[in-house]
Amino acid sequence: MANYIPSVGMEVHAELLTHSKMFCRCPVAFGGEPNTRVCPVCMGLPGTLPVPNRSAIEMALRTSLALNCKIAYESVFHRKNYFYPDLPKGYQVSQYGETNPLGYHGWVEIPSGDGYQRVSIRRVHLEEDTGKLMHLPSGGSGVDYNRAGVPLMEIVTGFPPDISTPDESKEYLYQLRLILLYLEVCDGKLEHGSMRCEPNISVRPDDQSELGTKTELKNLNSFRSVQLGVQFEVRRQVAVLEGGGRVAQETRGWNDTSETSFLMRTKETEQDYRYFACPDLIPMHFTEEYIEGLRAELPELPLAKLRRYRDDYLLGEKDARRLVEDRHWAEFFEEGIKLGGDPKLVCNWMISDFARLLNETGQVISERAKDDDAHDVSKVTPAHIVDLVNLVSKGTISGKTAKDIFDEMFKSGDFASSLVEKKGATQISDSDQILAWVREALAKNPDVVGKYKSGQTNVIGFLVGQVMKSSQGRANAPMVQDLVKKELE
Ligand SMILES: [Zn+2]
Repeated sequence: MANYIPSVGMEVHAELLTHSKMFCRCPVAFGGEPNTRVCPVCMGLPGTLPVPNRSAIEMALRTSLALNCKIAYESVFHRKNYFYPDLPKGYQVSQYGETNPLGYHGWVEIPSGDGYQRVSIRRVHLEEDTGKLMHLPSGGSGVDYNRAGVPLMEIVTGFPPDISTPDESKEYLYQLRLILLYLEVCDGKLEHGSMRCEPNISVRPDDQSELGTKTELKNLNSFRSVQLGVQFEVRRQVAVLEGGGRVAQETRGWNDTSETSFLMRTKETEQDYRYFACPDLIPMHFTEEYIEGLRAELPELPLAKLRRYRDDYLLGEKDARRLVEDRHWAEFFEEGIKLGGDPKLVCNWMISDFARLLNETGQVISERAKDDDAHDVSKVTPAHIVDLVNLVSKGTISGKTAKDIFDEMFKSGDFASSLVEKKGATQISDSDQILAWVREALAKNPDVVGKYKSGQTNVIGFLVGQVMKSSQGRANAPMVQDLVKKELE
C-alpha cells in the first residue's frame, strides 16, 4: 500500500456575541419560540433597508488582528445568491474576494508535538446566518427565522492546507475557540452550533504533489467528532483509492452514534452564486488610527499568556496550559500573583485541591465564569489562596493542616488565617515537643526500629507518620524527619 498524505482545510463559522442581529435590531438569543425574533428587515420584505451592526464589524476586526491578518481598509458586503427556504431574501449578505474580507492572509500558532506549528489563515469575513428548517410533528416542514440575520464570522485556513492530521484539526479548532473566548466575540458552544466547523479533507499518495479531490464534512458538534470525523474521512478515502476507485467531490454528514460519515450531496459542478456588491450597503472604510486603537486594546492571547507563565513564573507546560485554557482561571491566578502569592504555589493549590472541590460541588471559580447554567460561585477568592499559601511558606501551618484548612475554607468562606487561629492549628516547630513524640514513637515500635537498624531504611516513613499522628498533623514535617533520623542513629 502506498503512503498517503492527508490535507485538511478548516472552515469555521462563529456566531458573534452581539445584542442585535447583523442588519436590524432584532435581539440575538439561543432557542425560544420559532419566529419570535424577526422583523421586516431580517425577513427580507420589500422596501426595507439594512443597517450594519457596528459592534459585529468591530468583533470581526479584532478577531482578524488577533489572527495576525492584514486588514481590508476598504471593504464591501456582497450578495451571495441562492434559493433555499432558510434564506428569506433569496441571497445571503457575505463578503467575497481575496483581499476584500475584513481580515485576510494571517496565521495562528498551534501546539504540535514538542513545539508549535503555524497554520495560515486565508480570510476572516462577516456574513449573516440563515434560518433553520424544521420538520413539523403534523407532517411537512416549517422554517424558523430567529437565527436569520444573526452576525456570523467565517474563518478559513490558507491554501494549500497546513493541517495534515486529525489531531492537528482538533488542536486548531481548540486554539481558535480559545482565542474567540478570550476576545469575548463568541460563546464557542459547539454543541449549540454557535461555533461550527466544516473541515474539507483530501488525501494524496506521497509521491504526488497535486492535492487529491476533497470532501466536506458537516454536523461536527464536538472536538471529539472533529477528530474522529477527519480520521474516518482519511481512512475512507484511502480505502477508495486503494480499491482502484476515485474519490468523489461531495458533502458528507457525520453520524455521531455510528461514528461514520454519510453522503449528503455530490458537488458535480461548483455552484454559481452570482456574487455582486450589495447596493443597499455602503462600502466600509477604516482609518489606520481606528484599527491601531483596536489592536492596542486586544487582550493578552492564550499562547502569549502560556509562554509568559512558563518563562516568567517558571510553571510547567502542563500546569500553565491548565490555567490558560480557561480565561477565568487565568484571571484568578493573575489576581493571586498581584496580591503577592508565590506563582508556583498558587498554581498548585488551584489545579489540585481547588479544582477537585469545584468539580465535586459543581461550583464555578468566579462571578464572571457563570454562564446561563445556575452554578454557584465558590467562596474562595484569590485572596483566600494567597493567605493560605503564605501560612504554609512561613511555616505557620504544615502542608497536611493546610489541606484540611482548604476544605473548611471552601465550605465556610472563612480565611485560612482566621480558621487556624480559631482551631489553634498552627504548626508545631518546638524541637523539645517533637523530640518527645519521636522518642515515644520509637519506644512503642521496637520491631520497626530493629528493621531500620538491619538496613531497611524505608521504614522511617512509618515512624514519621506515627509522630505526625501524635501531633494531629501539626508537627513541622521536615523537622520530624530530621529528628527521627538523628534518634535512630
Ligand atoms: Zn430583524
